[in-house]
Amino acid sequence: MGAAPARPERIGVFGGTFDPVHVGHLVAALEARQALDLDLVLLVVANDPWQKRDVRAVTAAEDRYAVVAAAVEGIDGLEASRIEIDRGGESLTADTVAELAAVHPRAGLFLVVGTDVAAELGTWKRVEELQGALQLVVVDRGGISSVPDPPGWKVHRLEIPALEISSSDLRQRLAQGRNVDFLIPEAAIRCIRSRGLYASNR
Ligand code: ATP
Ligand code: MG
Repeated sequence: MGAAPARPERIGVFGGTFDPVHVGHLVAALEARQALDLDLVLLVVANDPWQKRDVRAVTAAEDRYAVVAAAVEGIDGLEASRIEIDRGGESLTADTVAELAAVHPRAGLFLVVGTDVAAELGTWKRVEELQGALQLVVVDRGGISSVPDPPGWKVHRLEIPALEISSSDLRQRLAQGRNVDFLIPEAAIRCIRSRGLYASNR
């Protein structure tokens, strides 16, 4: 008798600007992986976050990707994805998911988002395509459900410890030479410093 057919792969898609990545992101990704029994969670680094770029200068995608890759190195089940960088142009999750679905036709796909992003899903382009292609995992920090279930999705709610860490605050800390230890993984801090990002070398 042959081996039992493998269960379809389960893949989490956790997108972000990751400018820079921090331990809040990693905790969210790992909690989603465990709660939904995902084989893999992809940290998908936005190439051109079109909703952010008019608001502030965004760090070069290759630099942001290198820092994410350093952060997840050696962590089981987390992987940095450069799919949006390799595609180039504006980053649309719908294009990313179409590509992933073509490469992994049997896989179950899960879109992992924080509550801030969950509240904005209505503004995304081609969101109906996504609703048919993957299930939604809404990460509620500290058990505070500040958003209702976004309509049109199969939704999973996930409570994680509240870590009040944001990339915005970290950019400021780095620029001012303040502490970022234990807020950003050590290997990622080394990568930031070696690339001279966020004026972290002052
Ligand atoms: P910025 O301050 O520049 O907006 P950010 O810290 O919010 O950055 P993003 O790259 O915008 O990071 O977020 C990527 C994803 O990570 C989003 O789904 C967001 O909700 C989630 N996220 C951000 N910060 C945290 C955190 N502290 N804990 C859990 N999830 C987080
Ligand atoms: Mg954000």
